[in-house]
Amino acid sequence: MSVETRKETLGFQTEVKQLLHLMIHSLYSNKEIFLRELISNASDAADKLRFEALAKPELLEGGAELKIRVSFDKDAKTVTLEDNGVGMSREDVIAHLGTIAKSGTADFLKNLSGDQKKDSHLIGQFGVGFYSAFIVADKVEVFTRRAGQPASEGVLWSSRGEGEFEVENIDKAERGTRIVLHLKEGEEEFADGWRLRNIIKKYSDHIALPIELPKEHHGDEEKPAETEWETVNRASALWTRPRTEVKDEEYQEFYKHVAHDYENPLAWSHNKVEGKLEYTSLLYVPARAPFDLYQREAPKGLKLYVQRVFIMDQADQFLPLYLRFIKGVIDSNDLSLNVSREILQSGPVVDSMKSALTKRVLDMLEKLAKGEPEQYKSFWKHFGQVLKEGPAEDFANREKIAGLLRFASTSDESGEPSVSLADYVSRLKEGQDKLYYLTGESYAQVKNSPHLEVFRKKGIEVLLLTDRIDEWLMSYLTEFDGKHFVDVARGDLDLGKLDSEEDKKAQEEVAKTKEGLVERLKAALGEQVAEVRVSHRLTDSPAILAIGEADLGLQMRQILEASGQKVPDSKPIFEFNPTHPLIEKLDREPDEDRFGELSHILFDQAALAAGDSLKDPASYVRRLNKLLVELSA
Ligand code: ADP
Ligand code: MG
Repeated sequence: MSVETRKETLGFQTEVKQLLHLMIHSLYSNKEIFLRELISNASDAADKLRFEALAKPELLEGGAELKIRVSFDKDAKTVTLEDNGVGMSREDVIAHLGTIAKSGTADFLKNLSGDQKKDSHLIGQFGVGFYSAFIVADKVEVFTRRAGQPASEGVLWSSRGEGEFEVENIDKAERGTRIVLHLKEGEEEFADGWRLRNIIKKYSDHIALPIELPKEHHGDEEKPAETEWETVNRASALWTRPRTEVKDEEYQEFYKHVAHDYENPLAWSHNKVEGKLEYTSLLYVPARAPFDLYQREAPKGLKLYVQRVFIMDQADQFLPLYLRFIKGVIDSNDLSLNVSREILQSGPVVDSMKSALTKRVLDMLEKLAKGEPEQYKSFWKHFGQVLKEGPAEDFANREKIAGLLRFASTSDESGEPSVSLADYVSRLKEGQDKLYYLTGESYAQVKNSPHLEVFRKKGIEVLLLTDRIDEWLMSYLTEFDGKHFVDVARGDLDLGKLDSEEDKKAQEEVAKTKEGLVERLKAALGEQVAEVRVSHRLTDSPAILAIGEADLGLQMRQILEASGQKVPDSKPIFEFNPTHPLIEKLDREPDEDRFGELSHILFDQAALAAGDSLKDPASYVRRLNKLLVELSA
């Protein structure tokens, strides 16, 4: 006997142990979903076999009709699922039923709260899968053989779901997988034909393979010697059915199967395209961002079928990266059955499908935003940041994507990202031809920024952008509805027609009277500033720092610094409020030393108000304290 055939006991990966524990405790109220998960896996296994058999028909071993059989034994208290799909080898079994390969799982599990209600939602976003068998079973046996392997290469995996599992080689004549669930005490109700039939109809009707149960025989009928089987599901691919004939619940259950999700989707779009290209697409927006949305190697993409034959999971060539959260199925009549990932990389069919599918998704989101604003809010919370990658990646759809963005704004005290650009445009002041925004680290920081003073005074709305990605986003999003965006913290603020001729004249007059002060400040602040000038944006604050027109903003600078890159040197523009009492006092200060100290304090304060950190905080404190001492003397 070789080492390989020996019976061995192996420990579950730590993550599996944690997940098992959680699942058993938090999904208890919805335990019947175990059947959905196991049927979903059997269906995937059939898809995989059918795909592999395209190149190697001998894998079908003569038996081409793929199906799933569910049976039960009331006395033994077991439920058994049997499929004739692709099966598993010994290595497959150990890898797939002993570990979780998703990267980031350990971190994800660490963050669970221990609050079962909350955690069951989190497990939902993770997908429950095979291990859900242990919600109802205290022992699970998996008899399996990989298609194409000899009968002697069968494997038996068994576990009580505690810390370990056993594997041993067995003989298994038929390819595929048989799973025997030994029901826990109190779960005997599942060893019942009527109950199983109902669960299958409820969750798995959309499965394209026949799911069979033993035919029930009534009292006076003679029971046949051999079990007769009957199909209990509809057994046709859901996406091939006309939209009008598919119920919402069916769309929802199908989603859970393709997306390996536990929760219902937020929205979907089912379309059959005919003409130059022929394909069917069924695209879903999940309700919740998966924990690995930002991980490079996280699964993404659609399930690809060609003429109803499953070809691959995670075909990520059909949607841009910024829509990587979309799940679903495409079934093409134009691609060849032996299409590969390499072939999918480019080509006119894939390109034109990609652009059509992208539009579909954007339309679906638009519809959701219009028709169900509450749902859209939730969508935005989970996926808004990813959508913000759009304008940079997808120039052609820039305007469409822009329409889907949501921002906080000075018009909404809640600080929630609830304002669309269309809302903003609809509220433009007379004469306003620019879209104003301010970026910063947090809502609390930007909402009180001195940069907003003049806008408050004039009642002009400003969008408040506080996501890390925002400054970068705005470097790609230069206009909307034919109007340019203006960063209110940048350059020489020109309010255009929003300032009257008188305003402008008055500003020029004031500027003239302060020319002397400008020169003195330049001398005092020296190398620290690019320029000193009279400000028109301030009503309450004495001074402010503006960013040069072509310079990097604070957010971008911080991102670059954090990633260890060299940040190009740039100096701010110091603007002062000519009518502020502190500035007037400064203007009258005859002592150049004291003038210098005060100027530096004003400069540092302006930096703090802009959310920047001080290069020399100790000197700031020393200067300020000196001033305080003088005041109290
Ligand atoms: P998922 O379905 O999301 O991959 P599961 O926990 O449901 O996760 O299943 C884990 C893996 O175990 C599957 O990806 C598959 O490789 C394998 N597996 C489970 N059930 C079967 C089956 N009936 N036939 C073949 N492989 C299976
Ligand atoms: Mg699964």
